[in-house]
Amino acid sequence: TDIDWRAFAAALAPVQVIDEPVLVKKRSRDFFWYSPILNADLKRCFGDLVARPKNADEMRHVLAVAYAFDAPVVLRGGGTGNYGQAVPMEGGLIIETTAMNKVLEIGEGYVRAQAGALMADINAALIARGYEMAMFPSTQDIATIGGFVAGGSAGIGSIANGALRDPGNLMSIKVQSVEEIPTEHVFEGAETLHIHHAWGLNGVITEITLRTVPTQDWVGCLATFETYENAYAAGLALAQAEDVRCKLLTTVDARICAYFPRLKGYIRPDKHLLVSLVPKDDIAGFETCIRAAGGHCDLTLSEADRIAAKLPHVFDFSYNHTTLQVLKADRSATYQQIGCPIPPDPTAIARLRPKLGDDVWMHHEFARVGGQIVTFDLPIIWFSTAQRLAQINATYEANGFAVYDAHTWQVEGGGLKNADYRHLAWKKRMDPKGLLNSAKSAVWKTVKHLPADEIEALAAEAQS
Ligand code: FAD
Repeated sequence: TDIDWRAFAAALAPVQVIDEPVLVKKRSRDFFWYSPILNADLKRCFGDLVARPKNADEMRHVLAVAYAFDAPVVLRGGGTGNYGQAVPMEGGLIIETTAMNKVLEIGEGYVRAQAGALMADINAALIARGYEMAMFPSTQDIATIGGFVAGGSAGIGSIANGALRDPGNLMSIKVQSVEEIPTEHVFEGAETLHIHHAWGLNGVITEITLRTVPTQDWVGCLATFETYENAYAAGLALAQAEDVRCKLLTTVDARICAYFPRLKGYIRPDKHLLVSLVPKDDIAGFETCIRAAGGHCDLTLSEADRIAAKLPHVFDFSYNHTTLQVLKADRSATYQQIGCPIPPDPTAIARLRPKLGDDVWMHHEFARVGGQIVTFDLPIIWFSTAQRLAQINATYEANGFAVYDAHTWQVEGGGLKNADYRHLAWKKRMDPKGLLNSAKSAVWKTVKHLPADEIEALAAEAQS
């Protein structure tokens, strides 16, 4: 960009600015390096300057300056996204939200927090009051609530409480526009979906109100099985069981478990693993279910025992932390995101396994989405070429599985398979100059000249 960044930084005062090139470069990256394809595309994309506002007034000032200078803007929380969501592809300003980190209010069944609050801090504040977040990602120690709502979708808790987008989970989102004088908009209930998972390209989140649930005495459980099919069948039985209210159900291929040195001696070697979090009162039911599925309960660990034994959380072996455990040992691994046929069918999983090849090792997450039990496969893939990856995707699709590509930096390419014009209509209203993370939307280029209402009409058309 041909912006005078010294003048820009001066105009930002009194907001904290980071201009040390090494630090700006560090804040230009997220966890895109999980994908060799994204890594090649994004590793040389850097921002020019970082602003770190500490409240909504400072954020308004930063956005007004960005508007005045026509500066491209990317929001950043903890930078743990996996698709380069927070990478400034056009250079420009990075706004880091981590100084806006207050938990503002805890009430019956809800929490209100500033966008940059860390989810571990929100959970700690809630647990002290008998509640917890309905779901959170395994990155809760470094990830922000704003980043989760703008870039994430589900997590630990989703098998009990649904995905973020399910009714009731996102209660309210407060957003600022990027205009000469930024304005504040509040999206409530179903309207929060206009902003959720839009990768920060249609407004700047300053505050979020989320549903909370009563906390439990959670026990981390690790069970092992002779076959992957049995582990998956046990996961399904537990997801369906009314007397065992798990908040995490993860199945992991035995070959992946070999990359879990921290669990050596705690789980049987060379077996397929089921990872779970179970309320203390439901443990007997859990064990009965495991035995009925032909499994063995290797470890049940209360939070106090876990801390005493210096063991990691069991969720460090779930969701994208499973992938991370393998990547720690070998950077040639990558992964994919696969939606399995609904309802989940252990025999379909067993039939698919031999068709995939030795370079694809399954790992499933169980969740409830729209009230239905669903599973996602986040397999470890030993990456060779883009062609081989395409072939693996094709094998999944030919067998009735959906690929939500984890190797694209375009918002329409992964989770949002078809262009979501509702997001873009709001982008037109909230960000008329198209400064917010615009490079991440392939469709924006084709609709940005239209008025917001026409973009919305296209959305309705696309849906019908
Ligand atoms: P960032 O990466 O900083 O940002 C994410 C996106 O949100 C970016 O597009 C950014 O521009 C935008 N954004 C950030 N703040 C704002 C704001 N205030 N206003 C507008 N836009 C904003 N995701 C899941 O959904 N579930 C999981 O279980 C999960 N597990 C993970 C495990 C690992 C090991 C890793 C590396 C990632 C995982 N993720 C998961 C992805 C990611 O961690 C989560 O989405 C996380 O919550 C992102 O939060 P963050 O603060 O790091 O966001």
